[in-house]
Amino acid sequence: MTDTRRDQAPVIIIGSGLAGYSLARELRKRDSDLPLMMITSDDGTSYSKPMLSTGFTKGKSADELAQADAGTMADQLNMEIRTHTRVTGIDPQAHQILIGEERLTYHKLVLAWGADVIRLPDAISASERVCSINDLEDYRYFRRMVEGRRRVILLGAGLIGCEYANDLRNGGFDVTVVAPSTQVMPGLLPEPAADAVRRSLEAEGVTFHLGVAAESVSEDNGGAQVHLSDGAMLQGDVVVSAVGLRPRTRLATAAGLDVGHGIRTDRQLATSAVDIYALGDCAEVEGHVLMYVMPLMAAARALAATLTGEPTPAKWGAMPVLVKTPCCPVAVCPPAECGGGHWDVQRDGNNVRALYRDAAGELLGFAVTGDYVIEKQALSKEVPPVLASA
Ligand SMILES: Cc1cc2nc3c(=O)[nH]c(=O)nc-3n(C[C@H](O)[C@H](O)[C@H](O)COP(=O)(O)OP(=O)(O)OC[C@H]3O[C@@H](n4cnc5c(N)ncnc54)[C@H](O)[C@@H]3O)c2cc1C
Repeated sequence: MTDTRRDQAPVIIIGSGLAGYSLARELRKRDSDLPLMMITSDDGTSYSKPMLSTGFTKGKSADELAQADAGTMADQLNMEIRTHTRVTGIDPQAHQILIGEERLTYHKLVLAWGADVIRLPDAISASERVCSINDLEDYRYFRRMVEGRRRVILLGAGLIGCEYANDLRNGGFDVTVVAPSTQVMPGLLPEPAADAVRRSLEAEGVTFHLGVAAESVSEDNGGAQVHLSDGAMLQGDVVVSAVGLRPRTRLATAAGLDVGHGIRTDRQLATSAVDIYALGDCAEVEGHVLMYVMPLMAAARALAATLTGEPTPAKWGAMPVLVKTPCCPVAVCPPAECGGGHWDVQRDGNNVRALYRDAAGELLGFAVTGDYVIEKQALSKEVPPVLASA
């Protein structure tokens, strides 16, 4: 393989999620002819993943959440999209990716292949009544599963578990949440803010079993029993496992790329292998794995500039996370490190303003709920950026 042939090869993006499509759009703004190819293991539908936890509240089916199919996207972005095609390996030396026996040469390769759901042990996850929802196809399957059913048991009380709990309640389901943590959104929210969210969800009719783990799931008459570590048994129709996500790193490790919690990149989103970049949920940018839309958009803009000849580092300001629990709105900017500072909390019912300050009084993070969410923008301006200008 000569370098000339390599130069004629396309930029290949693996993944058709928000990271893959945002990058393709940003690239097209800069260069309408750059040879571009997308490879994706799903059907390539363009959709906004955050909307999956708002389907019932907004009255939208899985089909209504789809924005455009792969064919429409391929025309719009003037690129080839190969759908239902799973990349099985990378050969960085040859500048090629593998799809089973097939090899494709890239000029530059972008890994935008997202994160996997953390799978609970087989005693739970092998049951047909247990599902996870991490993409539109999963959601379509889940909506078919809950049709005509009433009782949903959610495993996991993180951001996604809480959002689904609120949305399913709005859809008229009986919702029970089970999690080993003693508060909702541990690691993301300070306790008073978490307490406000739990109480608000309870007021909507959600039942919580916190501080206990699900140990196994059994089935009978089309229903599911969830057996808990404290000996209790919950009876439901459908179980949703929402216990967290982990960046997809397996193929990158096998190809010899530097991998930490995610695929390690520098600020220009370059991995340790020449001409291979990563962004979105799979990437660890200078030590930061941020599985949210705002960092992915900023990364897509910077990477598009770099790939079109203008090397540009990603800059991430303070990026507040908005939790879509309409019964108790939340905005949170978790402090980079919880140590050396203290939480200053004001609380009025389920309206909480929690500010994390260092010894010098500098604001390092915050969590606001209810009426205080209005302060989100002003507070974000005070918080230091995640990745400051180099
Ligand atoms: C329910 C829910 C609600 C959320 N709400 C918010 C929110 O309110 N705000 C926010 O900022 N973030 C939110 N997030 C997170 C946000 O949606 C993600 O950070 C973002 O969608 C990740 O996009 P991605 O393109 O990196 O990954 P993905 O969307 O997971 O895309 C990965 C793509 O790679 C493909 N792929 C994987 N492996 C291979 C392979 N080997 N070969 C070929 N293709 C492959 C997949 O098929 C897929 O197309 C939410 C997430 C969920 C699940």
